[in-house]
Amino acid sequence: MAETHRTRLLIIGAGPAGYTAAIYAARAGLEPILVAGLQPGGQLTITTDVENYPGFAAAVQGPWLMDQMRAQAEHVGTRIIQDVITGVDLTARPFRAAGDSGDSYEGSAVVIATGAQARWLGIPGEKELSGFGVSACATCDGFFFRGRDVAVIGGGNSAVEEALYLAGLAKTVTLIHRRESLRAERIMQERLFAHPKIRIIWNTVVQEALPTEGKLRALRALKLHDLEGGGHYELPVDGMFVAIGHDPATALFRGQVETDAEGYIVTEPGSTRTSVPGVFAAGDVADRIYRQAVTAAGTGCMAALDAEKWLAHIPADAPSPAAYSAAATPAQMPPQAAE
Ligand code: NDP
Repeated sequence: MAETHRTRLLIIGAGPAGYTAAIYAARAGLEPILVAGLQPGGQLTITTDVENYPGFAAAVQGPWLMDQMRAQAEHVGTRIIQDVITGVDLTARPFRAAGDSGDSYEGSAVVIATGAQARWLGIPGEKELSGFGVSACATCDGFFFRGRDVAVIGGGNSAVEEALYLAGLAKTVTLIHRRESLRAERIMQERLFAHPKIRIIWNTVVQEALPTEGKLRALRALKLHDLEGGGHYELPVDGMFVAIGHDPATALFRGQVETDAEGYIVTEPGSTRTSVPGVFAAGDVADRIYRQAVTAAGTGCMAALDAEKWLAHIPADAPSPAAYSAAATPAQMPPQAAE
């Protein structure tokens, strides 16, 4: 039978941001409920070795790291529910969310930690070799390609930034772009063109990621299609970094909370407060620059602390809409967010 779950703090999303918010909120006595969604663990569940999350001298596996975060959140008192949120109402108090299971959720405050998804090319071999030569994050995986040949796909700031980062590690970097001009900022382009290790292949798309023969799963080459000349050829590479943009998972919240032109949730600088008092955003859903597990965890912690502070002004038992208005004092809220 459908149930209504009530909590002081409802956390939507189960990546590093959501779990960290849950750990802090549970330890602060907020008895949070975290709704885990379609891909519990988030983007780290599709990576292999993680070497840049502090606290582990040797590489750990992304899925294992997320299992640990989940267990830690549960251990300190978070209730984790496996459900997919299909609708939210952030206009009424308490905030409400509907789950695919038929259950509904009510939270005096909400942390949105639904993350972002890297865009992929959707070509054969890409999925199969993800984590085995194919990646969407140079900062995360570039280290594994020291002294190797890698390709970066895309022509925006991300692609150029990834190419420059990888040039510090790899033997060669080939940037492959589908047009003959980049959309990245001019200064970034100049750095790219001047780098001796980077070459650019214009007007070309990748059609397939080709694996090595035999048992070892690894990338061997890319099958390229020259859009001008019309030819096809293979480019041998050890790594392919897809940098064609990200999509923040904000469709549920559009029109209810302020988002920027690309759909990322806007937070007040230096905090996780959104345009709706009592609603906080953490992790990649509000971050198009850093996009790291550790920065997501950091903002998850901030969101729990911000929520705790905000909830301190709201009675724990049956809060009335008036109580919420009283909590949203100008001193705590961004000017545009006043009710
Ligand atoms: P962008 O949308 O800016 O660029 C995506 C690039 O990928 C484009 O060059 C696009 O080609 C190409 N592309 C898209 N789809 C495909 C496809 N299917 N096949 C091949 N190529 C494809 O995304 P970014 O992630 O680079 O940047 C997103 C935003 O974040 C931007 O506003 C950017 O400025 C910002 N950013 C800022 C940074 C900074 O300030 N340090 C760092 C990184 C990002 P085409 O050009 O032909 O459309």
